[in-house]
Amino acid sequence: MGYEIIIGLEVHVQLKTKSKMFCGCLTGFGARQNTQVCPVCLGLPGVLPVINKQSFEYALKAALALNCQIADFTKFDRKHYYYPDLPKNYQISQYDIPFSHDGYLDIKVDGKTKRVGITRVHLEEDAGKLIHPEEKESQYSLVDLNRTGMPLMEIVSEPDMNSPEEAHAYLTSLKEIMRYLGVSDCDMEKGTLRCDANLSLRPKGKKELGVKSEIKNLNSFKFVSKALAYEAKRQAELLEKGERIIQETRLWDEAKEVTRSMRSKEGAHDYRYFPEPDLEPIRIDEKWLADIRKTMPELPEARRSRLITQYGISNYEANVLTQEKIIIDYTEQALLKAKEQNVTLASVTNLTLGPVFKIINKQKIEFSEFTRKVPPENLVSLANELDKKTIVSTMSGVVLDEMFTSGKTARNIIKEKGLEQVSDKNALEPIIEEVIKNNQKIVADYKGGKKSAIMALVGQVMRASQGKANPQKVKELLTKHLG
Ligand SMILES: [Zn+2]
Repeated sequence: MGYEIIIGLEVHVQLKTKSKMFCGCLTGFGARQNTQVCPVCLGLPGVLPVINKQSFEYALKAALALNCQIADFTKFDRKHYYYPDLPKNYQISQYDIPFSHDGYLDIKVDGKTKRVGITRVHLEEDAGKLIHPEEKESQYSLVDLNRTGMPLMEIVSEPDMNSPEEAHAYLTSLKEIMRYLGVSDCDMEKGTLRCDANLSLRPKGKKELGVKSEIKNLNSFKFVSKALAYEAKRQAELLEKGERIIQETRLWDEAKEVTRSMRSKEGAHDYRYFPEPDLEPIRIDEKWLADIRKTMPELPEARRSRLITQYGISNYEANVLTQEKIIIDYTEQALLKAKEQNVTLASVTNLTLGPVFKIINKQKIEFSEFTRKVPPENLVSLANELDKKTIVSTMSGVVLDEMFTSGKTARNIIKEKGLEQVSDKNALEPIIEEVIKNNQKIVADYKGGKKSAIMALVGQVMRASQGKANPQKVKELLTKHLG
């Protein structure tokens, strides 16, 4: 029997505020355990939470980008449960009146666009973290409460995805948007993006949903895909055997590449939600929303389409360049300057996609560091030298490397290092004669009819000229010499 896979995702995104959600504690990553805490986030007697306005505005911005309806009235609730990483025994969250609902996100899979519904986006505070010692025999665990009270946004999707690939595309797109908005780094390794996945199967053509399991502990996009593929197979096998699926929470075991049962799933009533008495409800008016809308950047998908029409770049180039806002901001500034100065736009995009990315990867640096050392106008001046054929195109990496380390302009580097392309017949002739003399076998091949052998000779001349010879000119002269 064929089954249809039904997937819904719950994503937690940590908002990039300087301080926590209800107190002034710092949120920096990597601080010593239990040093970023205070009576409020520890829930000591007599304290009162005060909401961080920035966290609320970041969340509003995110919900607007996800096409959500924004509630005009919202409140916080206490969600009660016991866990060693939650000293208050309750978490401040949002229950029945989240600040936003009914949005959507359009994703692209295999060139097709699909709309995934967003049930709701709400705000809550994070809990602390348990640290389990590496040694197997150890009899204890440690608690780090630095994360307690960090602002978290929970984004709940509708069960609209039908394959691990669609789930992957959804997460990728979500992350991209959050990073464009600047509301979160969405770094799974640092835990600023976390994902739980719900999966169920139903016989093809049937309407009602099957029993779902929830998978936790998904620490990378790759694991999300793997865990979902595994879980779909596991459920299908059970159903084939006529067995029942139990509604439960399962953990992804990354070493064994299986999901395993953690606990049966709690219902909302188990948490004894009630309105948080220490926080006033919030009213969201049109004026506030309009102010936030003004701070929204152009979102990735819209930007891609615009770049393709405005600068004539390819779909592929647009996709690569828009993955990070900082990269396309830089490239677009360079493209605008290039247009003003009549420099070929392709020279600029080729530089970014080639030598610029190479430097970033090789030096393992942030893009911002590159932009500080090589501002857009300097990149355009290098593109201009390429247009004028002052240097051989393969030399662009060498020049850019030097621009990055020394901060000098392309022109100065080319002059100082004598990197100008050599097209002068008198300079090239002696090298060509030498190469012909030393490669008699290749010359014989060429003369024997193997015309492609000439490229090996061109390569030799290029090497002998330290990459500076004009390849077209070299080929032309060689052809003449070989008769
Ligand atoms: Zn605190």
